[in-house]
Amino acid sequence: MGERIVEGTWNCTSCGARGILARHKSCPSCGNPREETGSESEFDFGEASASGGLLRESVEDRGALDVAAAGADWFCAYCGAANRGDQPRCRTCSATREERPQPAAAPLPLAAPPPSRWRSRLLFGCVAPLAAVVCGVCAYAFWAGRTQDYTGTVVKRSWSRTVRRETFTRVPKQGWRGELHTARAVMPLDGHGESAGLENVRDCRRMQRGTRQVPDGTERVCVTRSRSVACGTEQRCHVQKLRNGFAKEVCENVTKYCSQPYQDCSDRTRYRTLPVYDDSCTFDTWEWRPADQRTLTGAEDTPRWPELAGGALDRVLQEETYAVDLEYRRKGERRSVTLHPRGLAEFESWTLGKTASLVVNNRNELKGVH
Ligand SMILES: [Zn+2]
Ligand SMILES: [Zn+2]
Repeated sequence: MGERIVEGTWNCTSCGARGILARHKSCPSCGNPREETGSESEFDFGEASASGGLLRESVEDRGALDVAAAGADWFCAYCGAANRGDQPRCRTCSATREERPQPAAAPLPLAAPPPSRWRSRLLFGCVAPLAAVVCGVCAYAFWAGRTQDYTGTVVKRSWSRTVRRETFTRVPKQGWRGELHTARAVMPLDGHGESAGLENVRDCRRMQRGTRQVPDGTERVCVTRSRSVACGTEQRCHVQKLRNGFAKEVCENVTKYCSQPYQDCSDRTRYRTLPVYDDSCTFDTWEWRPADQRTLTGAEDTPRWPELAGGALDRVLQEETYAVDLEYRRKGERRSVTLHPRGLAEFESWTLGKTASLVVNNRNELKGVH
């Protein structure tokens, strides 16, 4: 623990003298008193030390220490001169510390500051283009979603009918013995009521099904960590400016901490990988397998199903699709849309030449038919 006073220096702005000791309230070269304005109110204390204190030597002069202990300087409101904190009157013009010159007319309120250049740059440089893009996207979405009514005429019709025949077929498969629960297969009757079943489990062979981890002793695992340990003392200093050109430096010895590496070790269970075996068997089951397929297409003729006879273990699946093209004029341009009727009755209601009211948006998407 140590306490000492360090003296700062100031520069005279009247004659340019530099490094004037703080104990001088007036410039020793030109006699001008130190004032609050300019850089005369700032003191230089030199470089700081690694401990946070000052490198400059302590003041031993009694007079200077007396000035340091006088408290913060005050500046005369009349002549601007710096005065010792313990002096009630100005040393140059004798005005008291409390005296103030008669205040001039009240200053006009400051006008609002103009917007900063940064703000306007932000506004025009990035907010404005972003807003323009967002507005453009919104406007396009609005335009594209707008719909209009047009009169459409049926100009083309087409149909397609497909018959697929599937056969209930015996298929051999592989499975793990423990998961195979036998069940008798049931054959379909008119394409319904079948059951796949699981029959004739055979040809079982020992095979590796997977692996498992088994404990196999322990192993020592170490990691390097670090901890903070006391390693002697170091000096920590604190500098307090006394606002009169002097500074008080207080230093104390504090415990110093250092980072120390150490090994953190523990025993961990070690594991070994073992194969797991099971019986893999072949078995029979039944599945619907595609056997045959026929398609008929047409336009103005009556839709028909293609002929496809099914056997005892077969089922027959039917699919039908219909399309109707309507043409309309938009701004003198010929355009068309395609409807997909869901069944024969709806398809047959769309005869060639029939007209309908079409609701179409600006992207040429059909939104409704009346
Ligand atoms: Zn001077
Ligand atoms: Zn004065």
